[in-house]
Amino acid sequence: METKVNVLDSNNLDENILKEVANVIRNKGLVAFPTETVYGLGANALEPEAVKKIFLAKGRPQDNPLIIHIYDLDQISSLARNIPEISRKFMDKFWPGPMTIILEKTDLVPEVTSAGLSTIGIRMPKSIIARAIIKESGVPIAAPSANISGRPSPTDMERCVEDLKGKVDYIVGGEISEVGLESTIIDCTVTPPCILRPGGITLDMLKEVDKDIYIDQSIMKKPEKDFKPKAPGMKYRHYAPKAPVKIVNGELRKTIVRINEMVEAYRNDGKKVGIMATEETKDQYENALIISVGTRKNMDSIGRNLFETLRTFDDNEVDVILSEAFEEKGFGIAIMNRLKKSAGFNVIDV
Ligand code: AMP
Ligand code: MG
Repeated sequence: METKVNVLDSNNLDENILKEVANVIRNKGLVAFPTETVYGLGANALEPEAVKKIFLAKGRPQDNPLIIHIYDLDQISSLARNIPEISRKFMDKFWPGPMTIILEKTDLVPEVTSAGLSTIGIRMPKSIIARAIIKESGVPIAAPSANISGRPSPTDMERCVEDLKGKVDYIVGGEISEVGLESTIIDCTVTPPCILRPGGITLDMLKEVDKDIYIDQSIMKKPEKDFKPKAPGMKYRHYAPKAPVKIVNGELRKTIVRINEMVEAYRNDGKKVGIMATEETKDQYENALIISVGTRKNMDSIGRNLFETLRTFDDNEVDVILSEAFEEKGFGIAIMNRLKKSAGFNVIDV
């Protein structure tokens, strides 16, 4: 398949490109496009034939439902029913933005979009380009991350091209994803509401709307064998670079000592090591490919660079990636959730 690639400028949207992209969506095609979380791979959410193509292009398991993206609150009434008051409060406060709400679905939403569930996830993105594409298309857009299933999600156009060129109709470039991690998912079909995936809208921010909201505890732990997840995506290995990831967790001073010891051991075995360090620590390692993922003074920078850094280690064909850990509070909860998953929960405590 021929994949068209074009870049949009959010300060000056090219109407011709927008029209072309919207036509692809309306004609049941696939479009990768920027959002503030990660790049998405979109199709008309109401056309089973179009949605099926997303699963095929990504190699995504069919029981992993998609998030439906809207640009206007009026679109919700045709997609969801029995919409609880509390979900309206979350929407008022955090939409447009990196938050997905799970609601009961209407019959208009095809089974393939919800992966057979009676519920759907809905999000109104903040990205100007994403909103313009949804608006111009005139339909809600189902869009998971625009990567091959299992790999770290793309946060820029080049990574979409790497994974999807030849598999989709159109790739739209634009800004680098500002948050860098997928949306916070809140199940509003239960009381109190429950966070199924941590993201850019943190637990503390959500508690200002509902003090009883909590994080489903299973998401930070290695899934048990017979684990039946509330969000189907929770059971799959995710965000994984080609090389195995090992997280070293503990006091930073001890972490540095242990990582340096591990580097020596790997090097003696003839292995090429990647270290995911931070601005504060990067000068304290040696004999490895050392990449700073961001500064500990600004956790947003770490979220924004996390997936791109994992992919850069792949580009350099390291045999193993050793990563520092981050405190599980605020946005750090989302960062550690992705990092632990990418490591298959391989955490070494020091
Ligand atoms: P992705 O867009 O690839 O990050 O994946 C979307 C995530 O949203 C998946 O992990 C799904 O499990 C989750 N999700 C979407 N719809 C639902 C739903 N109805 N109930 C629970 N989780 C959902
Ligand atoms: Mg994904």
